[in-house]
Amino acid sequence: MRPAELHLTAAGARKGSLILVNRDHPLQGELFPDLVPLQGGWPDQHLDRTAARMLDAAIRAVQGTGQILPVSGWRSQDEQQAIWNSSLTDHGPDFTARYVARPGCSEHQTGLAVDLALCAEHIDFIRPEFPYDGVCGTFRKVAARYGFIQRYTEEKQDKTGIAAEPWHFRYVGVPHAAILTEAGLCLEEYPAFLRQAPRVVRLENGRRVQVSYLPWTGTETRRPAPGACWQLSGTNEGGFILTVWEGEA
Ligand SMILES: [Zn+2]
Repeated sequence: MRPAELHLTAAGARKGSLILVNRDHPLQGELFPDLVPLQGGWPDQHLDRTAARMLDAAIRAVQGTGQILPVSGWRSQDEQQAIWNSSLTDHGPDFTARYVARPGCSEHQTGLAVDLALCAEHIDFIRPEFPYDGVCGTFRKVAARYGFIQRYTEEKQDKTGIAAEPWHFRYVGVPHAAILTEAGLCLEEYPAFLRQAPRVVRLENGRRVQVSYLPWTGTETRRPAPGACWQLSGTNEGGFILTVWEGEA
């Protein structure tokens, strides 16, 4: 059961499945994601509980078990710092700035991002091979249905600040992944897109979902719940995204 009211707080505006994390929007404070071990990938990798379940479902849907390997999931601040440091040593500052997020600015620290590799004898940990054809191509086609987007593309490099990363997927949830994919937007563009007007989408099962943007006013606020089934996520850029599924839960 959802609580009977929306509770907008400063801390809430900085967490949730739709938060923007990049060099202009670093993580603020500890997130404490609800992590579970990732199935079928490299050992000791963890992901947010819902993201892990949906990733597993997407991989099974394309019969990719054993071929699509999650190679990197959640990272602590210390792990991100270690990756940054070793990339600087091994590859230099230019490569590192293009492909490695600064500690505190990595989506991997949210538990919502995962790097996927096509199974091979040698896998590049920083830039794994995840092609556009075969089973990986099929995964790309269904990813949005399971709430995942390819986060860094060539076209949006000026907005994301990260070079194209065909292997890096971010869980944003359903229906947001489909809205972003269909509108050709990156996550940086999503709050402004929703600020223009609420978006209504129809899911594959016919259910309607309304998505709207609520700015964080700086004052803790309570509002009546918008229905039986809803979700509120912070954006980490000064607001919230409210998702309301119409009809009974
Ligand atoms: Zn990644």
